[in-house]
Amino acid sequence: MQLNLISQRCIACGLCFRQHPEIFTVDDKGIAHFKKDLTTKDYLTLNSSQIKQLRTTITNCPGHAFYISH
Ligand code: SF4
Repeated sequence: MQLNLISQRCIACGLCFRQHPEIFTVDDKGIAHFKKDLTTKDYLTLNSSQIKQLRTTITNCPGHAFYISH
């Protein structure tokens, strides 16, 4: 599965970065991105267990910046 991040929708709340700093980073404007050592793309390939661990963050993102695709 792929976790997609649409950075243009990010409102820089910092939630994903605070909850999962091992996966997310923020730029100088506070906009979230995947850490570059994980992927240079706007999606991250994860297994279902990893997606489950991120479910709360995905659901609570106020910018609705995440979606999952297969
Ligand atoms: S939770 Fe959503 S709005 Fe908040 S920093 Fe992450 S991507 Fe941006």
